[in-house]
Amino acid sequence: MNELLAKSALELADMLAAGEVTSVELTEACLERIEKVDGKVRAFLFVDAEGALETAREVDARRAAGEKLHRLAGVPIAIKDNIVVRGKPTTCASKILEGWLPPYDATVITKIKEAGLPILGKTNMDEFAMGSSTEHSAYQTTRNPWDLERIPGGSGGGSAAAVGAFMAPLALGSDTGGSIRQPASVTGTVGAKPTYGTVSRYGLVAMASSLDQIGPVARTVADAAALQELIGGHDRFDSTSLDEPVPALARAVASVSDAAAKPLAGKRIGVIEEIAGGEGFQAGVVAQFDKALDALEKLGAEIVRVSCPSMDYALGAYYLIMPAEVSSNLARFDGMRYGIRVEPKEGPVTAETVMAATREAGFGDEVKRRIILGTHVLSAGYYDAYYGNAQKVRTLVQEDFAQAFAKADVLVSPTAPTTAFKFGEKTDNPMEMYLNDVATIPANLAGIPGISIPVGVAAEDGMPVGFQILAPARADQAMYEVAGALEAGLGEPLASRCPAADWKESE
Ligand code: GLN
Repeated sequence: MNELLAKSALELADMLAAGEVTSVELTEACLERIEKVDGKVRAFLFVDAEGALETAREVDARRAAGEKLHRLAGVPIAIKDNIVVRGKPTTCASKILEGWLPPYDATVITKIKEAGLPILGKTNMDEFAMGSSTEHSAYQTTRNPWDLERIPGGSGGGSAAAVGAFMAPLALGSDTGGSIRQPASVTGTVGAKPTYGTVSRYGLVAMASSLDQIGPVARTVADAAALQELIGGHDRFDSTSLDEPVPALARAVASVSDAAAKPLAGKRIGVIEEIAGGEGFQAGVVAQFDKALDALEKLGAEIVRVSCPSMDYALGAYYLIMPAEVSSNLARFDGMRYGIRVEPKEGPVTAETVMAATREAGFGDEVKRRIILGTHVLSAGYYDAYYGNAQKVRTLVQEDFAQAFAKADVLVSPTAPTTAFKFGEKTDNPMEMYLNDVATIPANLAGIPGISIPVGVAAEDGMPVGFQILAPARADQAMYEVAGALEAGLGEPLASRCPAADWKESE
């Protein structure tokens, strides 16, 4: 493997700034790696070699002309396929959007283009971001770079696998119930969901608007922080966007990089008892989680135990609120405005029959299941019993967090109860799949930030284990400080040990 590929995004940024490498060289190295290994990983739905190289050439020219550039200028990035890039295919891994070319850029893409990051392409995902394994993609199966027989997590399995397999140093994901953090957890990468409202959702194809948030995927905490800083900020095109300055996240991570200096002295870290082990949690996951708690203590932190009783109901509430919003958001795919249009095989061709035939052919089973569930929970007669009660649980989750944050600066748990499972293990039983998100969903319901960082591999299967850190809303900086210190305390980031680094590329 080209040695540039093993470097972090910020290391590459420094090399670019020092003139030790050009963005064209770097982009070519990523594209070559994609060509050589994506045949087995299948992380990308679309590779934009020409577009990426064009940006790289422009950035190199601007740098040569002495222009002051963004810190990440010239560092390539991959984009989850539910974030629109003008003129490039965006399918959300759904047949219904096949052939659609967005006429505009998402706000995060505008920022990425202005900063000069070459966009390598669009990554695979569960259809419309619904799933935890990327097995619900209508196009292809993405494999985990640690073990090709296992899932890369979901819904953002493509972004996590692209970064984990050294095809891209950075990627963007979206997290509605864990789709950035859980794929990071099972692929040994770092993934963060920012505070709701701090990164614009304009141009993110909506799944559940009150839960969706775009965030960074990387191999180090500092890289994730730098990317979150780049994409953050107020946006008048997103009515839920917070009008607040972006905190200096990368600087916060740099400030804790000396593990010997006990950078977490005085910090209280709360273990959420309801999601820190017990039924459904794999032994090797809990063992690595406990080991990371010891590491945090060595860094000066105090570990406290907190209880959030409503966590037990969070998953249930999510699977009522999320489908309700899904059923409304996905009504726009009607065969007339975007993507494919299918006429009924027989009978009259009316707006209604075309809509029905298009949705029947264009949506996969999981998407249909959620639309039906969502329309049911919103229907007159069931609304109060399901949707109304779920909203009450959502309030309880928020209150539980508020009480827990009075006792601890950040809260922690394993990111997912298990390591990456094998293909097909959970596709026949949606409940089993849903349960993989027990620990990530509460943060979306409360709008608070969360990050997953790799802390080791499970003894029983050798697969990576993710450690989740949650902070109060708008305290993303506190989350990054603890994540950065823990990473420094554990030594070399786990992502660099991914077996994909040693693949024979000629195979
Ligand atoms: N896996 C969860 C779900 O299926 C979360 C999805 C997401 O965050 N987009 O809904």
